[in-house]
Amino acid sequence: MFIDTHAHLTSREFDADRETVLSRAREAGVEIIINPGTELADSRRAVELADRHPMVYAAVGIHPHEARHATPAVLQEIEELSRHPKVVAIGEIGLDYHYDFSPRPVQHEVFAAQLEIAARRNLPVIVHTRESLDDTIAAVALSIEHSPDWRTVRDTVNGRNSSARGVFHCYPGDVATAWRLVGMGFYISLAGIVTFKNPGAAADVAASVSTEHQLLETDSPYLAPVPHRGKRNEPANIPLIAARIADLQHLNVEDITRAANYGVYRLFGIGDAPGPRFTYPLKNSLYINLTIRCNADCIFCDRKGEAIVKGHNLKIDREPSAEEVIAEIGDPQRYNEIVFCGYGEPTIRLDVLKQVARWTKDNGGRTRLNTDGHGSIINKRNIVPELVGLIDAVSISLNSTDPAQYGALMRLDGARFFPAMVEFAREAVKALPRVVMTIVDLQEVDEDRARRFVEGEIGAVFSKRPFF
Ligand SMILES: [Zn+2]
Repeated sequence: MFIDTHAHLTSREFDADRETVLSRAREAGVEIIINPGTELADSRRAVELADRHPMVYAAVGIHPHEARHATPAVLQEIEELSRHPKVVAIGEIGLDYHYDFSPRPVQHEVFAAQLEIAARRNLPVIVHTRESLDDTIAAVALSIEHSPDWRTVRDTVNGRNSSARGVFHCYPGDVATAWRLVGMGFYISLAGIVTFKNPGAAADVAASVSTEHQLLETDSPYLAPVPHRGKRNEPANIPLIAARIADLQHLNVEDITRAANYGVYRLFGIGDAPGPRFTYPLKNSLYINLTIRCNADCIFCDRKGEAIVKGHNLKIDREPSAEEVIAEIGDPQRYNEIVFCGYGEPTIRLDVLKQVARWTKDNGGRTRLNTDGHGSIINKRNIVPELVGLIDAVSISLNSTDPAQYGALMRLDGARFFPAMVEFAREAVKALPRVVMTIVDLQEVDEDRARRFVEGEIGAVFSKRPFF
């Protein structure tokens, strides 16, 4: 099911056939639509529409174009409207230097006031920015400084705070800035621009920012995706945008929408929370979640946090038996690979892993093991010979070539575990068909050195994965 996080159904372009547009959306698989307000009357209309239609939710706010009409009384009424149960955000708000319909100082003042409303109400924001990205981020950063608890969950277990503060809709910036916003607790959404022949930076952003941090939107009635470009846009076009992002991400439409829908759940509190899973499909492979236990405690890992991967919930409260996993796999030939992965370390459950892998191989499937490379320490023997014939590919987290940094990143004794991981990799290269070693994309980690180490010294394939 699709969620359109940004459609102006209250716009007069839909006055003649609003109900038909909604039923076309439903037929296209769109189950939730968020209608942001652009000024006070439009925000009222958004709330009324949400009241009439279970599938519609509202955001209330004053668009930068309308900022000059935002008196204190108007802003007070926006805050009052935000108490309606179907209002899920303050929006759309922001800065627009392209048209400058309202003087910039007024835009700033009204944006700041509405960020304050959002913080006070602990609601997320839907942000509009055009030719004003730096100033918009500065304004948002300032409001976070004033209200650090705004939409933040303090994670006392993992020591990391998780925040979901809003979305930059029709995001106009580059990849690096997008990641910066993600770090500030924001989602990115790109609308139909990604489908255009000349998408500018949008295609780069769609391809590079993990799909976990992207939402889907049409921005109807504007920015219709190809092949409807130039016509009135409507929520039923969401699948076209999802398909393009899926192409760019080398994932399936299901993966994109599942991840985006989880973002909607986390940000706006609507839709369903996913239940925990023992197996989970990604692209054309099936991933096996044998355990959430791990011998390491990596600083970049969300194992003790939400433990969500592309909308799949991996936070299992018990571990599956081999029989349960085998039953869920069904026919392994339906999948490109059966991958032992998850947030835990699969070799902690070596016997179950081997049972499932053997069954998979006996039934014509391919297998891969994603591991921290500590399986031999965990099991107190060299486990590589036991994997021969059962595991086709192994992917080892290298993380860093410096034992001290390795230990710091994984929060374990680097002097002991780094050489053990390297030893595991050397054994694996000798015995298994394919060995990949990965590092996280962190500035502190020396990528060139890691690549030389993996390709030159170990003889494995080098790969890099994003930090977030
Ligand atoms: Zn809009």
